[in-house]
Amino acid sequence: MMFTKKSHFKDTLKEYCVQEGFAITILWADKSRYTATCAAKCCEWRVHASKLPDGRTWVIKKLWPDFHTCQGFGNLQPYMQCEVGSSQTHGRHKGKP
Ligand SMILES: [Zn+2]
Repeated sequence: MMFTKKSHFKDTLKEYCVQEGFAITILWADKSRYTATCAAKCCEWRVHASKLPDGRTWVIKKLWPDFHTCQGFGNLQPYMQCEVGSSQTHGRHKGKP
């Protein structure tokens, strides 16, 4: 996948996020590289793009995995789903007075 300029790449990425219903966290972004990951902690999805030697064209070097493991599609709180079962201790008090 190629883009004529960086803003084109960023716009496309943004549209994709809105369409699929998830947020991204930018890990690294400078003049020649751009790496972002899904904002959900439990999700492995990430994208890496970099600028070609021509100084204008941007290309997606890596986009993996193909799908999100965060189940954030259309969900307003993908984060909450991830945390369930990991560090919740509230259930402990249930049987006690
Ligand atoms: Zn995700």
